[in-house]
Amino acid sequence: MPRFGFQYTSLISVTMGVFMTFVACGSQLYKVSMHGDSGPRPTVQSAKVGATTASASGDKLNPSSATYGIHAPEGWVSLPIHYKFDTRMDSVQRVQIQRAMRTWETAVGKQLFNYDGIQTGVNGDSFPDLYSSLDDGINGLYFDNNWAKTGKDRVVLATTIWDNESDVSDRMLTADMRYNNNDYTFGDSMVLWPEEGREVADLQTVATHELGHFLGLNHVESNVDPQSIMVPSLYIGQGVTQRGISSGDIKRLQLIYGCSGSACDVEATHLKIVRSVKDPG
Ligand SMILES: [Zn+2]
Repeated sequence: MPRFGFQYTSLISVTMGVFMTFVACGSQLYKVSMHGDSGPRPTVQSAKVGATTASASGDKLNPSSATYGIHAPEGWVSLPIHYKFDTRMDSVQRVQIQRAMRTWETAVGKQLFNYDGIQTGVNGDSFPDLYSSLDDGINGLYFDNNWAKTGKDRVVLATTIWDNESDVSDRMLTADMRYNNNDYTFGDSMVLWPEEGREVADLQTVATHELGHFLGLNHVESNVDPQSIMVPSLYIGQGVTQRGISSGDIKRLQLIYGCSGSACDVEATHLKIVRSVKDPG
Protein backbone atom coordinates (compact mmCIF):
# COMPACT_ATOMS: atom_id res chain seq x y z
CA MET A 1 0.00 0.00 0.00
CA PRO A 2 1.47 3.41 -0.94
CA ARG A 3 2.12 5.62 2.06
CA PHE A 4 1.86 9.32 1.29
CA GLY A 5 1.73 10.53 4.86
CA PHE A 6 0.94 14.02 6.03
CA GLN A 7 2.09 15.98 2.99
CA TYR A 8 -0.58 14.40 0.91
CA THR A 9 -3.08 14.89 3.69
CA SER A 10 -2.31 18.60 3.71
CA LEU A 11 -2.94 18.76 0.00
CA ILE A 12 -6.44 17.48 0.62
CA SER A 13 -7.05 20.17 3.19
CA VAL A 14 -6.14 22.77 0.57
CA THR A 15 -8.37 21.38 -2.12
CA MET A 16 -11.29 20.62 0.18
CA GLY A 17 -10.66 23.18 2.91
CA VAL A 18 -13.67 25.18 1.92
CA PHE A 19 -15.88 22.41 3.26
CA MET A 20 -13.85 21.14 6.16
CA THR A 21 -12.71 22.50 9.46
CA PHE A 22 -8.97 22.08 9.57
CA VAL A 23 -7.64 21.42 13.04
CA ALA A 24 -4.06 22.58 13.32
CA CYS A 25 -3.04 20.29 16.20
CA GLY A 26 -3.37 17.21 14.04
CA SER A 27 -2.77 17.47 10.33
CA GLN A 28 -4.88 14.41 9.68
CA LEU A 29 -7.93 15.61 11.59
CA TYR A 30 -10.94 16.91 9.68
CA LYS A 31 -14.46 17.65 10.67
CA VAL A 32 -16.69 16.46 7.88
CA SER A 33 -20.25 17.57 7.49
CA MET A 34 -22.75 14.79 7.12
CA HIS A 35 -25.71 17.11 6.55
CA GLY A 36 -27.93 15.96 3.76
CA ASP A 37 -26.49 12.47 3.90
CA SER A 38 -29.75 10.58 4.19
CA GLY A 39 -33.41 10.59 3.39
CA PRO A 40 -36.37 8.66 2.06
CA ARG A 41 -36.82 8.26 -1.67
CA PRO A 42 -38.61 11.33 -3.01
CA THR A 43 -41.84 10.51 -4.80
CA VAL A 44 -44.05 12.76 -6.88
CA GLN A 45 -47.30 11.39 -5.48
CA SER A 46 -46.38 11.86 -1.86
CA ALA A 47 -46.47 15.26 -0.27
CA LYS A 48 -45.66 13.68 3.09
CA VAL A 49 -42.43 12.14 1.90
CA GLY A 50 -41.43 15.54 0.53
CA ALA A 51 -41.83 16.99 3.98
CA THR A 52 -39.78 14.20 5.49
CA THR A 53 -37.00 14.77 2.99
CA ALA A 54 -36.45 18.17 4.52
CA SER A 55 -35.16 16.14 7.48
CA ALA A 56 -38.57 15.71 9.09
CA SER A 57 -40.98 18.35 10.16
CA GLY A 58 -42.90 19.53 13.19
CA ASP A 59 -42.30 17.64 16.40
CA LYS A 60 -39.37 15.69 15.02
CA LEU A 61 -37.32 18.88 14.91
CA ASN A 62 -38.34 20.10 18.35
CA PRO A 63 -35.79 18.98 20.99
CA SER A 64 -38.49 18.85 23.67
CA SER A 65 -40.61 16.48 21.60
CA ALA A 66 -40.61 12.73 22.34
CA THR A 67 -39.91 12.04 18.67
CA TYR A 68 -37.00 14.47 18.35
CA GLY A 69 -34.12 12.77 16.54
CA ILE A 70 -36.38 10.06 15.12
CA HIS A 71 -37.66 9.82 11.54
CA ALA A 72 -39.37 6.42 11.78
CA PRO A 73 -41.00 6.16 15.24
CA GLU A 74 -42.33 2.67 14.45
CA GLY A 75 -39.10 1.37 12.94
CA TRP A 76 -39.19 -1.35 10.32
CA VAL A 77 -42.08 -3.34 8.96
CA SER A 78 -40.34 -6.51 10.17
CA LEU A 79 -37.27 -7.51 12.16
CA PRO A 80 -34.54 -8.57 11.89
CA ILE A 81 -33.46 -6.45 8.95
CA HIS A 82 -31.93 -8.69 6.29
CA TYR A 83 -28.92 -7.15 4.56
CA LYS A 84 -26.15 -7.86 2.06
CA PHE A 85 -22.69 -6.42 1.43
CA ASP A 86 -21.36 -5.37 -1.93
CA THR A 87 -18.53 -7.27 -3.53
CA ARG A 88 -16.03 -4.43 -3.01
CA MET A 89 -16.02 -4.70 0.79
CA ASP A 90 -13.18 -6.74 2.21
CA SER A 91 -13.44 -8.85 5.34
CA VAL A 92 -12.03 -6.12 7.61
CA GLN A 93 -14.56 -3.62 6.31
CA ARG A 94 -17.43 -6.08 6.76
CA VAL A 95 -16.37 -6.76 10.35
CA GLN A 96 -16.24 -3.02 11.11
CA ILE A 97 -19.78 -2.51 9.87
CA GLN A 98 -20.98 -5.54 11.79
CA ARG A 99 -19.42 -4.18 14.98
CA ALA A 100 -21.42 -0.99 14.42
CA MET A 101 -24.53 -3.15 14.07
CA ARG A 102 -23.73 -4.90 17.37
CA THR A 103 -23.53 -1.50 19.07
CA TRP A 104 -27.11 -0.69 18.12
CA GLU A 105 -28.28 -4.21 18.97
CA THR A 106 -26.66 -3.90 22.40
CA ALA A 107 -28.55 -0.61 22.82
CA VAL A 108 -31.89 -2.44 22.74
CA GLY A 109 -30.82 -5.98 23.73
CA LYS A 110 -32.35 -7.41 20.57
CA GLN A 111 -31.26 -8.80 17.23
CA LEU A 112 -31.90 -6.10 14.65
CA PHE A 113 -29.82 -7.34 11.70
CA ASN A 114 -29.51 -10.58 9.78
CA TYR A 115 -26.57 -11.06 7.41
CA ASP A 116 -27.63 -12.61 4.12
CA GLY A 117 -24.18 -12.68 2.51
CA ILE A 118 -22.46 -10.85 -0.29
CA GLN A 119 -24.51 -9.59 -3.21
CA THR A 120 -22.57 -11.30 -5.94
CA GLY A 121 -21.34 -9.08 -8.74
CA VAL A 122 -23.01 -5.94 -7.39
CA ASN A 123 -21.40 -2.74 -6.09
CA GLY A 124 -22.52 0.86 -5.77
CA ASP A 125 -21.52 1.61 -9.36
CA SER A 126 -23.94 -1.04 -10.60
CA PHE A 127 -26.81 1.37 -10.10
CA PRO A 128 -27.52 4.26 -12.51
CA ASP A 129 -28.30 6.72 -9.71
CA LEU A 130 -28.77 7.03 -5.97
CA TYR A 131 -32.30 5.76 -5.49
CA SER A 132 -32.41 2.96 -8.05
CA SER A 133 -30.54 0.68 -5.64
CA LEU A 134 -33.76 0.49 -3.62
CA ASP A 135 -35.69 -1.14 -6.46
CA ASP A 136 -34.39 -4.67 -5.89
CA GLY A 137 -35.82 -4.78 -2.37
CA ILE A 138 -32.44 -5.93 -1.02
CA ASN A 139 -31.09 -3.92 1.90
CA GLY A 140 -27.60 -3.37 0.55
CA LEU A 141 -24.47 -1.71 1.87
CA TYR A 142 -22.50 -0.46 -1.12
CA PHE A 143 -19.22 1.22 -1.99
CA ASP A 144 -19.54 3.83 -4.74
CA ASN A 145 -16.37 4.63 -6.69
CA ASN A 146 -18.38 6.98 -8.90
CA TRP A 147 -19.81 9.25 -6.22
CA ALA A 148 -20.86 12.04 -8.60
CA LYS A 149 -23.57 9.71 -9.88
CA THR A 150 -25.33 9.86 -6.52
CA GLY A 151 -25.74 13.62 -6.83
CA LYS A 152 -24.21 14.07 -3.38
CA ASP A 153 -21.35 16.43 -2.61
CA ARG A 154 -17.91 14.86 -2.23
CA VAL A 155 -17.69 15.97 1.42
CA VAL A 156 -20.53 13.57 2.18
CA LEU A 157 -18.97 10.37 3.52
CA ALA A 158 -21.96 8.14 3.03
CA THR A 159 -25.68 8.28 2.56
CA THR A 160 -28.58 6.16 3.69
CA ILE A 161 -31.75 6.03 1.61
CA TRP A 162 -35.00 4.22 2.19
CA ASP A 163 -38.58 3.58 1.15
CA ASN A 164 -41.34 3.99 3.65
CA GLU A 165 -44.20 1.50 3.85
CA SER A 166 -46.71 3.93 2.38
CA ASP A 167 -47.62 7.58 2.09
CA VAL A 168 -49.21 7.42 5.51
CA SER A 169 -46.74 5.17 7.33
CA ASP A 170 -43.19 6.06 8.33
CA ARG A 171 -42.39 2.38 8.86
CA MET A 172 -39.38 1.37 6.83
CA LEU A 173 -39.74 -1.16 4.06
CA THR A 174 -36.30 -1.27 2.49
CA ALA A 175 -33.09 0.75 2.77
CA ASP A 176 -29.61 0.98 1.30
CA MET A 177 -26.37 2.51 2.43
CA ARG A 178 -23.96 4.01 -0.08
CA TYR A 179 -20.41 4.86 0.92
CA ASN A 180 -18.29 7.49 -0.84
CA ASN A 181 -15.43 5.18 -1.77
CA ASN A 182 -14.47 7.75 -4.40
CA ASP A 183 -13.13 10.37 -1.98
CA TYR A 184 -12.40 8.38 1.20
CA THR A 185 -10.54 5.27 2.26
CA PHE A 186 -12.80 3.32 4.61
CA GLY A 187 -11.52 0.93 7.21
CA ASP A 188 -9.85 0.89 10.60
CA SER A 189 -8.47 4.43 10.97
CA MET A 190 -5.99 3.19 13.58
CA VAL A 191 -4.04 1.30 10.92
CA LEU A 192 -4.94 2.88 7.57
CA TRP A 193 -3.00 5.51 5.66
CA PRO A 194 -4.45 7.98 3.16
CA GLU A 195 -3.90 6.82 -0.37
CA GLU A 196 -4.42 8.19 -3.84
CA GLY A 197 -5.64 11.51 -2.46
CA ARG A 198 -8.33 9.94 -0.35
CA GLU A 199 -8.52 10.73 3.36
CA VAL A 200 -9.01 7.94 5.87
CA ALA A 201 -12.46 7.59 7.42
CA ASP A 202 -13.05 5.12 10.22
CA LEU A 203 -15.66 2.80 8.80
CA GLN A 204 -17.06 1.67 12.16
CA THR A 205 -17.60 5.34 13.10
CA VAL A 206 -19.31 6.26 9.83
CA ALA A 207 -21.33 3.02 9.82
CA THR A 208 -22.60 3.62 13.35
CA HIS A 209 -23.94 7.02 12.24
CA GLU A 210 -25.46 5.71 9.01
CA LEU A 211 -26.98 2.69 10.75
CA GLY A 212 -28.71 5.16 13.06
CA HIS A 213 -30.51 6.54 9.99
CA PHE A 214 -31.04 2.99 8.73
CA LEU A 215 -32.84 2.16 11.97
CA GLY A 216 -34.99 5.30 11.99
CA LEU A 217 -32.96 7.99 13.72
CA ASN A 218 -32.55 11.57 12.55
CA HIS A 219 -29.72 13.95 13.15
CA VAL A 220 -29.39 15.44 16.62
CA GLU A 221 -27.93 18.89 17.11
CA SER A 222 -24.69 18.96 19.09
CA ASN A 223 -26.07 21.48 21.58
CA VAL A 224 -28.84 19.00 22.45
CA ASP A 225 -26.66 15.88 22.79
CA PRO A 226 -22.96 16.59 22.15
CA GLN A 227 -21.95 12.93 22.56
CA SER A 228 -24.54 11.63 20.09
CA ILE A 229 -23.23 9.73 17.09
CA MET A 230 -26.13 11.33 15.21
CA VAL A 231 -24.75 14.88 15.24
CA PRO A 232 -24.53 15.93 11.60
CA SER A 233 -20.74 16.22 11.43
CA LEU A 234 -17.86 14.20 12.78
CA TYR A 235 -14.10 14.11 12.73
CA ILE A 236 -12.28 11.76 10.41
CA GLY A 237 -8.64 11.04 9.68
CA GLN A 238 -5.85 8.70 10.66
CA GLY A 239 -6.22 7.53 14.24
CA VAL A 240 -9.57 9.31 14.69
CA THR A 241 -12.58 7.31 15.80
CA GLN A 242 -15.96 7.96 17.39
CA ARG A 243 -17.38 4.49 17.59
CA GLY A 244 -19.57 4.87 20.65
CA ILE A 245 -23.08 6.21 21.04
CA SER A 246 -24.58 8.38 23.76
CA SER A 247 -27.15 7.53 26.42
CA GLY A 248 -29.49 9.75 24.43
CA ASP A 249 -28.92 7.63 21.32
CA ILE A 250 -29.80 4.52 23.34
CA LYS A 251 -32.99 6.12 24.69
CA ARG A 252 -34.07 7.25 21.23
CA LEU A 253 -33.52 3.80 19.74
CA GLN A 254 -35.41 2.21 22.64
CA LEU A 255 -38.34 4.54 21.89
CA ILE A 256 -38.55 2.85 18.49
CA TYR A 257 -37.71 -0.78 19.30
CA GLY A 258 -38.26 -1.06 23.05
CA CYS A 259 -35.67 -2.92 25.09
CA SER A 260 -35.02 -6.39 26.35
CA GLY A 261 -33.53 -7.58 29.64
CA SER A 262 -30.57 -5.70 31.03
CA ALA A 263 -30.49 -3.35 28.01
CA CYS A 264 -33.40 -1.48 29.63
CA ASP A 265 -30.89 -0.08 32.14
CA VAL A 266 -29.73 2.71 29.85
CA GLU A 267 -26.72 3.84 31.86
CA ALA A 268 -25.42 0.29 32.33
CA THR A 269 -25.97 -0.37 28.63
CA HIS A 270 -24.08 2.81 27.77
CA LEU A 271 -21.11 1.68 29.87
CA LYS A 272 -21.23 -1.73 28.21
CA ILE A 273 -21.08 -0.10 24.77
CA VAL A 274 -18.24 2.21 25.81
CA ARG A 275 -16.27 -0.86 26.89
CA SER A 276 -17.13 -2.91 23.81
CA VAL A 277 -16.03 -0.26 21.30
CA LYS A 278 -12.71 0.05 23.11
CA ASP A 279 -12.18 -3.68 23.21
CA PRO A 280 -14.42 -5.51 20.76
CA GLY A 281 -12.87 -8.83 21.83
ZN1 LIG B 1 -26.42 11.65 8.90
